[in-house]
Amino acid sequence: MVYDLIVIGGGPAGYLAAERASGAGLNVLLIEKKFIGGVCLNEGCIPSKALLYSAKLYDGASHGAKYGITVDNIKLDHKFVVARKNKVVNTLVSGIKMKLKKNKVTVVMETATITGKTAEGFNVTAGGTVYIGSKLLIATGSVPVTPPIPGVKEGLASGFVLTNREILDLAEVPQNLCVIGGGVIGLEMASYFNTAGSKVTVVEMMDKIAGPTDREISEILMKNYEKKGITFNLQCKVTGVEAGNVMYEFEGKINKVPCDKVLLSIGRRAFTEGLGLESIGVETERGRIKTDDKGCTNISGVYATGDVNGYSMLAHTAYRETEVAINNILGKKDIMRYNAIPSVIYTNPEVAGIGETEETAKKKGMDFEVVKLSMMFSGRYVAENEGGDGIIKILINKKYKNVIGVHMIGNYSSEIIYGAGMMIETEMRIDDIKQLVFPHPSVCEVIREGIFEFD
Ligand SMILES: Cc1cc2nc3c(=O)[nH]c(=O)nc-3n(C[C@H](O)[C@H](O)[C@H](O)COP(=O)(O)OP(=O)(O)OC[C@H]3O[C@@H](n4cnc5c(N)ncnc54)[C@H](O)[C@@H]3O)c2cc1C
Repeated sequence: MVYDLIVIGGGPAGYLAAERASGAGLNVLLIEKKFIGGVCLNEGCIPSKALLYSAKLYDGASHGAKYGITVDNIKLDHKFVVARKNKVVNTLVSGIKMKLKKNKVTVVMETATITGKTAEGFNVTAGGTVYIGSKLLIATGSVPVTPPIPGVKEGLASGFVLTNREILDLAEVPQNLCVIGGGVIGLEMASYFNTAGSKVTVVEMMDKIAGPTDREISEILMKNYEKKGITFNLQCKVTGVEAGNVMYEFEGKINKVPCDKVLLSIGRRAFTEGLGLESIGVETERGRIKTDDKGCTNISGVYATGDVNGYSMLAHTAYRETEVAINNILGKKDIMRYNAIPSVIYTNPEVAGIGETEETAKKKGMDFEVVKLSMMFSGRYVAENEGGDGIIKILINKKYKNVIGVHMIGNYSSEIIYGAGMMIETEMRIDDIKQLVFPHPSVCEVIREGIFEFD
């Protein structure tokens, strides 16, 4: 038989593609080599947030005295936390499997290889069977970057060096954890293990943590975690890993971080190895599959969405890219826009941002104004954040008076940021935003406060 659509990869991009396409009446085959839910559900977004929630509760209990709550003998039971994380993952993965079943998606748990094209369609081989699809959607995701640093390969083999995959399942909390890379994943794991009792050292090559996050907000986040006991070594280049140590270079000198475990979190790369892209001529660029704003590759009928196209490597981007691709497959007009993709760091305090930062807006030569406010302008923030140092920054295009970026640090930011996204996406002008009613008291009121600072 010929499937209307073959989806390769069962992560957020792949399972959503299968769900949406089958929901619209297409005959869909989904091929996944490892686990339905992909990195996001099994070893990324969801498990990390389950761990971080336990850490947040522990933090709350430890510092409860500020709010009149005292608790004795507070303990973070790491084994229990990991077991609960597994339960959360299983619940969500089961939910996805049920949806796929309900939508009558055929699921094959094998490694897929594209093996050519005939008059009938694209050939995909999995588990010794050749499947044929009129259209293909590639959603094979990404894997951690492993740099050619001496000792890293051996460390990974011995279990001294971990990626996000292994660290989420560590049986014991390491006494000393060295995190290579102060980006989002590194910081979230540093945050959990710091609370769980590890002495954490972050080694970062840049002069700031948190990647492209607004510089001032990154600095506030770093100060918060320095206070909690994390050591940050910025502008430091890791030169080697040996049992019990990470070596790094700073101002020409080699230093050592003694540690029991190392988390390698210097980034992720699109995964296309062994996929057989060459058999049908799909174009790639430094490993990622090139796509247009409809998710289409250079080969008509072949789409690639999610981490594998390398645009943004976030689950919510994968979802939207997939919806765009499926809409186009179904003949509906839709295009992908990347100007309002939220980014969140689920530390405590949380960080969230969307749209232009001051740095990117300046680089693009935009004429903009910035309002910066303390989160203390929100009554709820004051009530719930004793000694909080959160801020919000709102960027407005001077000419059109519309929001082009919002960046904040403070809890609930992750839940608020989509509102800013709607303002950016719909190009709302500040006069229109001023007419919106925000719930009171809420932390999101800082956006309203900020908007009223503009004329
Ligand atoms: C620790 C961590 C935390 C994260 N936290 C967040 C977060 O909070 N928010 C957020 O938005 N993003 C987060 N991410 C990123 C997010 O996980 C990814 O953006 C998302 O999983 C991408 O989805 P995807 O479907 O493109 O790829 P993936 O989830 O990587 O899924 C790809 C799937 O394809 C399968 N596959 C690959 N090759 C083949 C083949 N040849 N045949 C069959 N199957 C194949 C793989 O087994 C995998 O299941 C996090 C990532 C990590 C590592």
